[in-house]
Amino acid sequence: MMHFLQDTTEELIEKIHGSLKLAIVVTTHHKPDGDAMGSSLALNGYLTALGHAVSVITPTDYPSFLHWMPNHDDVIIFEEKEAYCSTLTLKADLIFCVDFNDLKRINNFGLVVAKSQAQKVMIDHHLEPSGFDDYRFWTVEASSSCELVYEFIRKANDTNLINQSIANCLYTGMMTDTGSFRYRGTSSNTHRIIADLIDKGAQNSLIHELVYDTNTMMRLKLMGFILYHKIEILSEFNTALIHLSHEELMRFEIRTGDTEGFVNFGLSIEGIRFSVLIIDRTKLVKMSFRSKGDFSCNEFARAYFEGGGHKNAAGGQSTSSLEATVARFKEILPLYKDQLTK
Ligand code: 5GP
Ligand code: MN
Repeated sequence: MMHFLQDTTEELIEKIHGSLKLAIVVTTHHKPDGDAMGSSLALNGYLTALGHAVSVITPTDYPSFLHWMPNHDDVIIFEEKEAYCSTLTLKADLIFCVDFNDLKRINNFGLVVAKSQAQKVMIDHHLEPSGFDDYRFWTVEASSSCELVYEFIRKANDTNLINQSIANCLYTGMMTDTGSFRYRGTSSNTHRIIADLIDKGAQNSLIHELVYDTNTMMRLKLMGFILYHKIEILSEFNTALIHLSHEELMRFEIRTGDTEGFVNFGLSIEGIRFSVLIIDRTKLVKMSFRSKGDFSCNEFARAYFEGGGHKNAAGGQSTSSLEATVARFKEILPLYKDQLTK
């Protein structure tokens, strides 16, 4: 078990075990990834099995390589159905917020969640929660929010309710957030849970295929283009930088999720400790940060780019142009020379 778990869910578990049928909304961060969708859809399966009425609401759409997931068709996208999502959320008894810990991460849907009288449950593993929650199941020690959802179900003594669908959801998030079980957060506990999920029917090999082997030809060509032309090595700072313009995204017909993982290209180069991907999403410039060792992406993203996340993986944004953002990044980097080269 995890040593630094902040857990205030005792009374919550009594509530969800009660005979009263509750109206529950489950939500997660914008542009949800495998862990966000895995933890949301696993909770959906579990809370439905307990007899509650559950709606999964995502702030935005999510990548098509996650559309195979159980109950994908039932997910409601706030951006597409604002009025309906608001009604559900304002009428809810409970709102589960998974894989994020600050309402800023759910865009305008955050205003609705904040307004709702429902009690809010946060299940998350990112640094520095903002504190909007009534019930908390949180630690940065967990590999993924899916690992925490499993622990939450275990705490409620309900692992017998984990069927193949729920097991597949949990497996997906644990796999994607650990980079297929290789990042630092991967513990023996992670592997023990995975073993149990496979015993419960998780289709491990199939899930790897569904998530990772669904490239379009254009995405592969974009990878080639980036590897050949776009990675910039700032060797003085052991840093790799990739930036992509809106024109380049259009040229390679990029869809939601297509650039996921590209930030890791830089980190796979020997000696590189910090890798950055900067993408012009027109409304915003979006940034992804990854590091090896002690350099804190979370602190860097928080200090300069309105972001956050984990020590070795974080995101951020900028409202300046792509060129100005890249220039600003290059201006800031020398401040961290010691940390990046010692
Ligand atoms: P990614 O680079 O894959 O978008 O995100 C890396 C990690 O940082 C993820 O755990 C994600 O949830 C978190 N993250 C990404 N963007 C932001 C942001 O703008 N703010 C905060 N607080 N976290 C972010
Ligand atoms: Mn996560």
